Amino acid sequence: MKAIVKRIGHKGVFLKDIDFMENSGITVKTLYTGVCGTDREIANDMLPFIRAENGDELIIGHEAIGTVEDPGDSYLFKKGDLVVPMVRRPGKCQLCQIGHQDYCIDGDFVEAGIRGKNGFMRERFRENEKFLLKVEDKSIEEIGVLTEPTKNVMKIMETFRFLSSRIPWYCKDSTLSCKNLYIFGTGSEALLISFVFSTLGFNIFLVNRHPISDKIQSIIDSVGANFLDSSTQIYENKLSEYRPDVIIDAVGSSEILRKSVEKINNNGIIILFGTSGQLMEKNQDITGYIVDKNLTIAGSVDGSKENYREAIEFITSNKNRFPFRDLITGIGSPESIDKITKKDRDEIKYIIKW
Ligand SMILES: [Zn+2]
Repeated sequence: MKAIVKRIGHKGVFLKDIDFMENSGITVKTLYTGVCGTDREIANDMLPFIRAENGDELIIGHEAIGTVEDPGDSYLFKKGDLVVPMVRRPGKCQLCQIGHQDYCIDGDFVEAGIRGKNGFMRERFRENEKFLLKVEDKSIEEIGVLTEPTKNVMKIMETFRFLSSRIPWYCKDSTLSCKNLYIFGTGSEALLISFVFSTLGFNIFLVNRHPISDKIQSIIDSVGANFLDSSTQIYENKLSEYRPDVIIDAVGSSEILRKSVEKINNNGIIILFGTSGQLMEKNQDITGYIVDKNLTIAGSVDGSKENYREAIEFITSNKNRFPFRDLITGIGSPESIDKITKKDRDEIKYIIKW
């Protein structure tokens, strides 16, 4: 069968005819796989921690949706079920053993398509039922491929709810409409964050260092959020007028972060999701600043099985409220390898149809 493969230590990825298949589990026919920044970093050999399951080749892909072709001896799934596989698989630590590999203590986990386990960019795969989630609403077959990135947002929401419970946060109208949320990034993950957090009533600003396409602007408009170009004076003015209460970084730009952290309100919460986020590396008294403003800073990675369930639930129940379909700006075939290496201008989310 066809698979998209990375040779460890070599640049690029390639389409290959492979005969690898897991020994046991539920056989899933892949419908769609999403391409994200991590896949592009793998393709461009920029991720030092990637490793193969065996040999020196890794089948990539960690965002997927498929249908059950053969349930094997599982009684939880049946042929034709729409399913989403989980990315990270538990190691041996205490938290991994209770299904919280997203909080793994020692890093002894594997991740499909990234480290130590073959991924989903192939025509079919076999999966342990523990790591599959059923999608009941078959009408979300296409946008259901966004479940994996959406589960990251559910984990971010879980983190926000926990951290914000220290003090009363609600405004006089019982929503968070008097609180300003700054989201750094305007890619698919940042837009998904805006979808989910808009349900709490936040006043939302999405920030990037450059202008955005009309399509992204219209998605931002549909959520009732605002876009700010951080290279403009307007951004500086807005920051002073609407000081951030919550900052969620989905790009890892310390430069954007620094400017905004200087304006953050007391008791502010900063959640870092972007992977190259280095917080104010030149500020010598960062700790004093955090103490004085009573800030809370959290990192957030991956999510639990519960977060996947919440993601499916969120997409299903909000499929007509938020423009999920508009996030998918391209659907290609496995043969279009260059689409994995390079991001098209104006692309939000590119997916592969298998
Ligand atoms: Zn662990």
